[in-house]
Amino acid sequence: MSETTDQAVYKTLLESTQAIPWKIDWKTMTFAYIGPQIESLLGWAQASWVSAEDWATRMHPEDREKVVELCISQSQNGVDHEADYRALTAAGDYVWIRDVVHVVRDDNGEVESLIGFMFDISERKKTEEQLLTLQKQLEEYSYKDGLTGVANRRMFDTVLASEWANAQRTRQPLSLILLDIDHFKQYNDHYGHIQGDDCLKHVGQALSRAASRPRDFVGRFGGEEFVLVLPETDEAAARHIAERCRQQVRQQRIPHERSSVSPMLTISLGVSTIVPGAQDRALDFLNAVDKLLYQAKQRGRDRLEMARTASRSELDDAADARA
Ligand code: GH3
Ligand code: MG
Ligand code: MG
Repeated sequence: MSETTDQAVYKTLLESTQAIPWKIDWKTMTFAYIGPQIESLLGWAQASWVSAEDWATRMHPEDREKVVELCISQSQNGVDHEADYRALTAAGDYVWIRDVVHVVRDDNGEVESLIGFMFDISERKKTEEQLLTLQKQLEEYSYKDGLTGVANRRMFDTVLASEWANAQRTRQPLSLILLDIDHFKQYNDHYGHIQGDDCLKHVGQALSRAASRPRDFVGRFGGEEFVLVLPETDEAAARHIAERCRQQVRQQRIPHERSSVSPMLTISLGVSTIVPGAQDRALDFLNAVDKLLYQAKQRGRDRLEMARTASRSELDDAADARA
């Protein structure tokens, strides 16, 4: 093949690929060449690509500085590189581009020109974004209760363990509230399960409003039972928040015709506070609070039962004092 045939072949090849070839003269910072495919991709005419400035201006403002800086510094150092950015279309939209750049040097090692290919990567970016959203959703599902939107049991177990260890270390009081909807079986039987689910959602929302400190935790313990973990919260503050829980649920004014306690939905609560020592176990504390909740049910429901839980060392001290 003669040299001119060669060139014609190369040109045809270059201009029929999906990737868009281009060449920039380093000294003048002008386009020596850009493939005609650029027009079908971005809408700007081939002839409108004159200087590197045209390239930089037709880039999303959020990407521009970073990309231009990278390309200039890499080119100056003679390093091949690539950059992803959003290119502006003539219609005013953006297309994700991957620009792959090769730095050409002359015999003296001086940068002479940049040649490269632009690839349309918008499909890939879209998939990446979808994956990211999906991943976020999965993360949420793993710690959120699907029905009520408050944290789930698994998250409660994690939070209790970590706040327990925190309280042991800092010697700060830790409070726990365990609560259960009164006569919820009758509620379901009377209003149906769908409305029962709705009721659980409303209770979850009400409880989320009852505690407002950043480390306060509200979760669904299971069924129609909810739990609050309140770090650095003493008995008085815990009682206050437990009362707020009752009040928030009352304010929802959820009718419960079949309840023997009240015509509106009510809850019963067990509340306790502990300053846990090294020998105390979170599970024992949880059991103690569960007993208090049981007492609240026994004593007529729509009420809270509260007691401080003594740590092992407090119990030992008391025993020593008696001996
Ligand atoms: P008490 O006042 O002693 O707590 O009586 P109760 O009827 O609330 O207690 P019980 O434990 O007998 O009934 C709880 C009911 O909660 C039974 C169950 O069908 C219902 N329940 C548990 N989880 C869900 C749920 O996700 N959706 C609905 N709709 N109901 C649920
Ligand atoms: Mg129950
Ligand atoms: Mg119940």
